[in-house]
Amino acid sequence: MPHAHLHDMHCHVDLFPDPRALVDECERAGVYTVAVTNTPSVFRACVALVTGRRFVRAALGLHPELAAERHAELALVPELLQETRYVGEIGLDYVATDVATRTLQRRVFAAFLDACAPYKDRVLTVHSRRAASDVIAMIGKNFPGTVVLHWFSGTVGELERAVESGCYFSVNGAMLASERGNTLVRRIPRERVLLETDGPFVKQEGRSARPTDGVHTVLALAEAWQIAPVDTQVLLERTLRTALTRPHEEKAHEATERE
Ligand code: MN
Repeated sequence: MPHAHLHDMHCHVDLFPDPRALVDECERAGVYTVAVTNTPSVFRACVALVTGRRFVRAALGLHPELAAERHAELALVPELLQETRYVGEIGLDYVATDVATRTLQRRVFAAFLDACAPYKDRVLTVHSRRAASDVIAMIGKNFPGTVVLHWFSGTVGELERAVESGCYFSVNGAMLASERGNTLVRRIPRERVLLETDGPFVKQEGRSARPTDGVHTVLALAEAWQIAPVDTQVLLERTLRTALTRPHEEKAHEATERE
């Protein structure tokens, strides 16, 4: 199966030993890749890595696990958010149990949501480990932008609420390899599923997953959905296009359809 139209909505490109080589690989293979960052002060270095590239985009983020340590960098967000349409890694992680840390995480996440909303076209890749209910409640039903829940591991009820809120779900090899993850993935409406690797944290055959590994996820989804891999890839590409359609383009598209 060709890599030509794969995508990776969540890859920590800047945390690979040789980020530039990874970007080269994405370009050669034509994998649309969202290079997430974990704190605003490293965003510009990520931009430098992808400037002039066709397939890789730098995302502005502040990982919930770094909220306590890095929240002061929120001051950089308004300016940096003008430079990219992509936002992440952001969200909540309630592996942290103390109230103060969770409160700070919510403050950081809320600040990002508030900063993104006026643009109406920002694409967010959101972490929600043990915190899906709060993440979904904070996003709300009318968030103006595209929200992609990354490596979702909530309950079926939370999944349904996220679907009602218009969220997409990016799935990786580790999710599909676990029985619980696989069961959950099967419950996501197919037209809301996107690909991610979460490399270098997720492993593929004993080494860090790379954006080109999406090919394995396509095969696993084809198996889960009981459709041909080529049809799976077509569906995923269509979903990506829909997820990235800006509000004004949507109106233009509807107008064309009426004609
Ligand atoms: Mn991640």
